[in-house]
Amino acid sequence: MNFDESAQQRYARQLALPEIGAAGQAKLAAARLLLVGVGGLGSPAGFYLAAAGIGTLGLADGDRLDLSNLQRQIAHTTADVGRLKVESAARTFQALNPAVQIRQHAERLTEVNAGALLRDYDFVIDATDNFESKYLIAAACHAADKPYSHAGILRFFGQTLTVLPGQTACYRCVFADPPPPPTPAVGPLGVVPGVIGTIQAAEAIKFVTGAGKLLTNRLLTFDALTMQFREIAVRRNAACPLCGKIS
Ligand SMILES: [Zn+2]
Repeated sequence: MNFDESAQQRYARQLALPEIGAAGQAKLAAARLLLVGVGGLGSPAGFYLAAAGIGTLGLADGDRLDLSNLQRQIAHTTADVGRLKVESAARTFQALNPAVQIRQHAERLTEVNAGALLRDYDFVIDATDNFESKYLIAAACHAADKPYSHAGILRFFGQTLTVLPGQTACYRCVFADPPPPPTPAVGPLGVVPGVIGTIQAAEAIKFVTGAGKLLTNRLLTFDALTMQFREIAVRRNAACPLCGKIS
């Protein structure tokens, strides 16, 4: 693939990375990624994916922006309060990189629409903020055989895991049943989804380009209070409600 002069300039630093190069950049330009949620996790993930030159970026979120979102959802601005988040995020990411094709799905992922929504994408980023959506994404990605990046955030704490369905430990291998929701909902500190969403973008870029080693079979946790990352080895669970009964 030949890149025009402006693309050569824009991506010069990553074209110079041997792990990416022109071949990796062409793969990024051909890739279709779906961000489910354009809030605290989806904002940084979308920024970096757009900046890196992802060909198609799908944004799925049915919510409108609330003033209380802006403490962490940095793809939006104060003037966007009351607007659909997919609209303001699309405008932000498009301004960063006009070459990215952005698709807006102004709807919440449900059991009914999940299959159709995922169909056109190569990789899914779970950037949602509730367990119901996370279990739904895990199930839909398993059914559609779509690789995905899970993330969860609470207060000062975050975690993330990359899943290749049928090959590596899935979200439900690790978390078979949803925990009770924390009451009242507090936090998170805005930088926590900033850190974790950025890691999710890195995983998506690595998946597309084949660079490095994915965060599979390893749950990465981050504690901003102690400023510690930890890695927990996880593996496929034969009793997993989604991908169990390993043959
Ligand atoms: Zn599983």
